Amino acid sequence: MKLILATGNKGKLREFKEILEPLGYEILSQGELGLDLDVEETGETFEENAFLKADAVLQATGHAAVADDSGLCVEALGGAPGVHSARYGGGKAWTDKQKYEYLLEQMEGVADRRAKFVSCIVCLFPNGERIAVRGECPGRILDAPAGDAGFGYDPVFAPEGYDASFGQLGQEVKNTLSHRARALAALAERLKERGIC
Ligand code: IMP
Repeated sequence: MKLILATGNKGKLREFKEILEPLGYEILSQGELGLDLDVEETGETFEENAFLKADAVLQATGHAAVADDSGLCVEALGGAPGVHSARYGGGKAWTDKQKYEYLLEQMEGVADRRAKFVSCIVCLFPNGERIAVRGECPGRILDAPAGDAGFGYDPVFAPEGYDASFGQLGQEVKNTLSHRARALAALAERLKERGIC
């Protein structure tokens, strides 16, 4: 089964391919199809935004589409940056490094470091079928960045049970326990239940 992934984010694309392709799904990004879509993420929840992105690709291609909307929710910041993770601080123009440095500034002197990554994945089919799944990965915000694997906030987030960031643990470990790995495992299960292989 071929799924078109609605993303311009190379980190997400790599993780989708690494996790779903061994299960027999072919993942193509909108960019690989020459589609230049920049969907405005006007939803208030991860699921709404994932739906908007998957729907834009389904409408443009007529082909089964999948999208991930994800982010980092920090307890002491009332759940921020949350759905605004990609636009945190100075917005989309900022690099990942600027965004996680800004986050560390907001967390300076804050004792409660609890946080979680959330991923909502929506898969839409031309016949109107829809699958929505969610994965979460609890952990904590480190005092300083460490490691350079992964993308986004990976250098400043340590998953529960580890004393190292996703940036240090590397892609292989991340793919066994991340929010996206959990959401993709749920997606694979739902696709299998419906006989979509
Ligand atoms: P969006 O889903 O396109 O709105 O972007 C999600 C944003 O959340 C990314 O640009 C990252 O900043 C952050 N994010 C989501 N998943 C991860 C992850 O696995 N590691 C690090 N940062 C992430």
